Amino acid sequence: MVFESLANRLQDTFNRLRGKGKLSESDVKEAMREVRLALLEADVNFKVVKDFVEKVRERAIGQEVLQSLTPGQHVIKIVNDELTELMGGSQAKLNISNKPPTVIMMVGLQGAGKTTHTGKLAKLLQKEKKKPLLVACDIYRPAAIKQLQVLGEQLQVPVFSLGDQVSPVEIARKGLEHAISYGHDYVLIDTAGRLHIDETLMDELRNIKEAVQPSEILLVVDAMTGQVAVEVAETFNNTLDVTGTILTKLDGDTRGGAALSIRAVTGTPIKYVGTGEKIDAIEPFHPDRMASRILG
Ligand code: GDP
Repeated sequence: MVFESLANRLQDTFNRLRGKGKLSESDVKEAMREVRLALLEADVNFKVVKDFVEKVRERAIGQEVLQSLTPGQHVIKIVNDELTELMGGSQAKLNISNKPPTVIMMVGLQGAGKTTHTGKLAKLLQKEKKKPLLVACDIYRPAAIKQLQVLGEQLQVPVFSLGDQVSPVEIARKGLEHAISYGHDYVLIDTAGRLHIDETLMDELRNIKEAVQPSEILLVVDAMTGQVAVEVAETFNNTLDVTGTILTKLDGDTRGGAALSIRAVTGTPIKYVGTGEKIDAIEPFHPDRMASRILG
């Protein structure tokens, strides 16, 4: 389970704190050292850990905490609050256009789970009685269009495709026109990924963005890749001004560092997490619930 080892380590630290009754400044320092190591081991970005521990320490050595009857409890509450804050505070919802349809562009590296999550998101929208249209703009990966069509059939959501001989910008533009004509209120654009970030990919994504003016650009990143996910997020964000992240494969054997770092490093909220290969394995991301899960 994601965060399992982080949760275990923090619980050990907090049990020691709880057991102490009164706390001294050095008890707090010792605990913060342990929190720092636990976070680094969970693959949280180094600078994020540094800032986080500093904030918690400052609050935790305040007189109010040290003189309270349950100082250990107090420190845990501070860690909980700061973890929640680190992951964005409250749940970040989808940006919705005042003038339908709402256009959502899905971007990310190949294999991150972009196409799968385009389908998952369509399913969520469908449950809310929305009428999404999927647009197949990944013309380079041979099976991508087919994969989206299969998802569409499974969900009974229409898929707009012009094959792989028309430019993705043109497909996106025509897809949007189609959505307007047919009364769709959401357009989900599945774009191409590459194994690595390259300028051609970024140019293409910039051009699609320019052409369809999305309200939401969701970056799909694989949590299993840890720090690399954070770097990928930074690069995409610098070029495209991403509006949200979908962190996938949280069901896998990930230490979870990306979940704790992405928001702080990029300023972009995690909006959803992917928790499996099935079409309904997607959840809105709740920073407070995730923090509670980490703290047990
Ligand atoms: P794309 O290249 O970014 O479009 O990636 P795909 O959507 O084709 O997904 C790549 C692989 O990751 C597929 O085998 C998916 O089934 C798998 N996958 C996607 N999301 C998740 C997830 O949340 N959990 C797990 N375990 N697998 C996932």
